[in-house]
Amino acid sequence: MSPTPTNFYDLTRDALLALVASWDFSATHGARLWRYVYLEGVTDWAAMPELPVRFRAKAETEFNFGQLPVAIETHSADGFTRKYLLALNDGRNIETVLMRYKGRVTACISSQAGCAMGCVFCATGQMGFIRHLTAGEIVAQAMHVDRVLRETLAEATPALAAPEDNSPHARHERLRNIVLMGMGEPLHNYDSVMTAIDILRDGSGLGLSGKRITLSTVGVVPGIIRLADEERPVHLAVSLHGATQEERAALVPAAKKWPLDVLMDACRYYIAKRERRIFYEWTLIEGKNDTAEAAHAVGRLLQGQEAQVNLIPLNPTAGFDGEPTGQAAAKNFQAILAEYGLPSTVRQRRGIDIAAGCGQLAVARK
Ligand code: SAH
Ligand code: SF4
Repeated sequence: MSPTPTNFYDLTRDALLALVASWDFSATHGARLWRYVYLEGVTDWAAMPELPVRFRAKAETEFNFGQLPVAIETHSADGFTRKYLLALNDGRNIETVLMRYKGRVTACISSQAGCAMGCVFCATGQMGFIRHLTAGEIVAQAMHVDRVLRETLAEATPALAAPEDNSPHARHERLRNIVLMGMGEPLHNYDSVMTAIDILRDGSGLGLSGKRITLSTVGVVPGIIRLADEERPVHLAVSLHGATQEERAALVPAAKKWPLDVLMDACRYYIAKRERRIFYEWTLIEGKNDTAEAAHAVGRLLQGQEAQVNLIPLNPTAGFDGEPTGQAAAKNFQAILAEYGLPSTVRQRRGIDIAAGCGQLAVARK
């Protein structure tokens, strides 16, 4: 029986070079292969003329490209958002979202199928946990978006695709921003997520800047501390939603395991250690956590921290009865935060008509 091929997308560049060396081939072949795949988007062995045929034959038996076929694709009416239901090889599905604003493309990618954290207003939480994604399955989502940009958007928007230089990246609109805000809790799947981030950031491949990768967590404290202790320059967003332990735990059950005071200690540690601010996310639910009193509580909690608050008006989900806060109340909330020296933004609502907004990603459980 032949061994199961390795998913190429599971390997960091270093791991690939080590593997190639173990086959007694030159590391330069491995480096060239990496560039074909991640810089030029080539996954067809016949389209890699700069690699010797013998090397390609060996690689072809050892690797597969774990591309995730599109099961369903939906586009928002305004044309800015596309949602992809991608099929995993065990029959499960995940969702990946491509968002475009002001010539900037962001991929919102998933870290798990389902989620174990059970936040009451989140469609992914409402479906429960199915499984962790592998690093390769996380990378494959970014590669899917990269491929879409190469194949379609460049044709549709030639102005945006105008080359600034002659590098392979310059010939099409590039994927520059990644948010790990799709399905799942990234710090619950720490190792695979970090391997994927290392692959995405590799300078001779996709070359995404860590400054343009944002990881959002519900507040998994051991993961925040580990992230603080490691040199991985990504942005961290922490989902807060309640400024007292009791109010937060009612929306975010994970708060029972990692209470608010413990979470705040971890966040302060992260800010000091990494010398980087934290983005706090706050889903605004009308009449629930959008009052002046709530805003003052957030202000008191975060005052003095290097922090920015991102307010997200609630997106509808089947399992939660609540309404989004209106514009005026959101502005009021922001004004109160400003009194405490806290900058804030209200997230643009995008893709709500195709259920691609924050917290709306879910697929039928098999
Ligand atoms: N598991 C991570 C990342 C995915 S969710 C986390 O919870 O942070 C990304 C953001 O969307 C989180 O801040 C989450 O709380 C928020 N969110 C979840 N459901 C939402 C909904 N129905 N409306 C608005 N925001 C929601
Ligand atoms: Fe999981 Fe995040 Fe949804 Fe909470 S908001 S259930 S942590 S995906």
